Amino acid sequence: MLDTSSQEGQPEHPMQGVPQPARDQVLALPRVHISKHPVIAHKLTALRDRHTSPPDFYRLVKEIGELLAYEATASLALEISETETPLMKMDGYKLAGGIGITPILRAGLGLAEGFREVISDAQVWHLGLRRDERTLQALEYYNRLPHKVNLQVCYAVDPMLATGGSAIDAINILKRRGIPRISYVGIIAAPFGLQNLVQAHPDIDVYIAALDESLNDLGYIVPGLGDAGDRQFGTF
Ligand code: URA
Repeated sequence: MLDTSSQEGQPEHPMQGVPQPARDQVLALPRVHISKHPVIAHKLTALRDRHTSPPDFYRLVKEIGELLAYEATASLALEISETETPLMKMDGYKLAGGIGITPILRAGLGLAEGFREVISDAQVWHLGLRRDERTLQALEYYNRLPHKVNLQVCYAVDPMLATGGSAIDAINILKRRGIPRISYVGIIAAPFGLQNLVQAHPDIDVYIAALDESLNDLGYIVPGLGDAGDRQFGTF
């Protein structure tokens, strides 16, 4: 029999033989929002293209981040805020509480930039979670979350929801900070990762641009777009 184990005894094809749900089985999961925006679909096709260069790839991730931010922030709470126009005083609105963005390093950086274009005064909390290529487990290596929290919502952003491991861990970390409302925002999800995330955290909203077919034996989303970190930063 072919030995697919590494020196540490971990499988080199971690998704080989792992049962995965079909796309149709996860399409109607609660609190999952799959964008129907035509501009997102247009930009996503350019993003997937293997010939798209790293600078263009980064720009597209950021632009899709802006559009997803627009969708993900549509249900934010407001409070009355008095303002004065050149003509008179009036009651306007302001967002009720701060907004946090947690890019899961490093692939989440481009998406976070897009979010900041929409909400310029958002706090950015960096969280470094690295995926072990053999086990697909998420390992925390960097954490710059503040001690004092006064947020209405925090968006954990990471372009690729593959097995869901990093996203689940990131949400666990954010929940331990007592954040009242957390959303996950990604570009492409695999049914397996989406199902795992919703099962682990049924109380969060999930915003994605597309739901793809499956994970291959190595844990890459197919058709997907390859490695979102390498493609943003040119590290092939
Ligand atoms: N992370 C990526 O960047 N791409 C995948 O396909 C899966 C995980």
